[in-house]
Amino acid sequence: MDYLPIFLDLATRRVLVVGGGAVAARKVELLLKAHALVRVVAPELHPELAPYRDAGRIEHIAAPFEPQHFEDVVLAIAATDRPDVNRAVAAAGAALRVFVNVVDDVGASSCIMPAIVDRSPVIVAVGTGAHSPTLARRVRAQLEAFLPERLGELARLAGRARERVRRALPDVQRRRQFWDRLFAGRIASQVLVGQEAAAEALLEEELAAAVSGAAVSGAAVSGAVSGEPGRGEVYLIGAGPGDPDLLTLRAQQLLQQADVVLYDRLVGEAVLDRVRRDALRVFVGKQTGRHRVTQERIHALLLEYAARGLRVARLKGGDPFVFARGGEEIDILRRAGVPVIVVPGITAALGAAASAGVPLTQRGLAQAVTLVTAMGEGAEALDWRALAAPLQTVVVYMGVAQLPRIVERLLDHGAPPTRPAAIIERATLPAERVIAGTLATIAEQARTAQVGSPALLIVGEVATRACQAQALGQSLPPTAVQRGV
Ligand code: SAH
Repeated sequence: MDYLPIFLDLATRRVLVVGGGAVAARKVELLLKAHALVRVVAPELHPELAPYRDAGRIEHIAAPFEPQHFEDVVLAIAATDRPDVNRAVAAAGAALRVFVNVVDDVGASSCIMPAIVDRSPVIVAVGTGAHSPTLARRVRAQLEAFLPERLGELARLAGRARERVRRALPDVQRRRQFWDRLFAGRIASQVLVGQEAAAEALLEEELAAAVSGAAVSGAAVSGAVSGEPGRGEVYLIGAGPGDPDLLTLRAQQLLQQADVVLYDRLVGEAVLDRVRRDALRVFVGKQTGRHRVTQERIHALLLEYAARGLRVARLKGGDPFVFARGGEEIDILRRAGVPVIVVPGITAALGAAASAGVPLTQRGLAQAVTLVTAMGEGAEALDWRALAAPLQTVVVYMGVAQLPRIVERLLDHGAPPTRPAAIIERATLPAERVIAGTLATIAEQARTAQVGSPALLIVGEVATRACQAQALGQSLPPTAVQRGV
């Protein structure tokens, strides 16, 4: 280890910043966040720094650097664009045994600034020694995505309860178990989705239970089969249209926590790869024609796993509340008193529109967008006349077999055969295909191209813009795609 990472308490300590430009401004802001007393030495101040001086938040010495500026200083940053000045600062610091960071010059520095993930009071510092600040920033970006926004609140909640827990559970071993369970369980997930009051109340309950010995039997929930009764919860997670990069951050965070994952046919391998390695995976897809897991069976499984004290991720394609029976699942769970967290996902219509370059609304062309499903018995009852009207976009979630019937209904209810229509098959997945045409041609095009499931139909003027995702990046004219007009 070439460097020791360390957290400095700078409140009421003086830090010297030499330089008054934009780079210095970033450092000053960071130091002020850490409550340091900041002395800036620079003949002139960047406009971003002037307000700090005017508000009395920094001390400004409007002069060239001199060693005496180190008076009373515990740490210094040299951030001028003049190497000779920076080196003079480093030399003066070395003489006084004060740590100096020279921006972009590790050789001259006696300390380096890490890349930071700030979820205060939780702070992660990343360094690569002197090897690659860019790599440090990339690691930081990955951590940013991985660490929940409200991690700091979780730490504060624990901090508030710490003394009480220490008194209530004097035994170190039991106390550690209590905290482990807390961070792995419902209290943590409640804080992370912003339900702090509920989490606080639950903490009191758990503490009382731990004191009475009721809940100290097991360690943190870890294996997929060993939960603790009463502790189960369900995350109803939208997995998005297929591309795993379209998962939300919260979806990824909860997928890393879940003990069991119940997933649908629409959830592909790439998304499942983001699930915790040792989680149990249960396929509950409904495959048309084959033996299917009924909705009732899914409900029973959810209740059963939750009752065993497991954290259950119910992972659904797209969004869990768009044509996905998510409403029924939360009703059942709520009735059984199982806590549920719902995480939205990018629904197929939005994923497909983005990857085929079709704006779902556009001034003068589409003032409204309607999502409909043409699957199941409900299709008959839809208001096809309204769906056939102009100046809107209709996105049909469909079984491909229904396509000819859908087109026929729209035409029967007054849509012109020239109305643009596009099919997006396997949207956002590597094998995505886009087929563009009109109501007159689209069914035949789909048949010829042997379109398979899953696929969406987009009907409306905006559909003329549909093109293959790769073409979007290459700014090809939309005529480059299959077009049957
Ligand atoms: N809850 C999902 C919809 C489930 S209904 C969501 O919000 O997206 C299943 C239908 O969604 C499929 O028949 C298909 O029409 C559509 N669909 C889902 N994923 C798709 C994809 N990657 N590409 C095209 N259509 C998709």
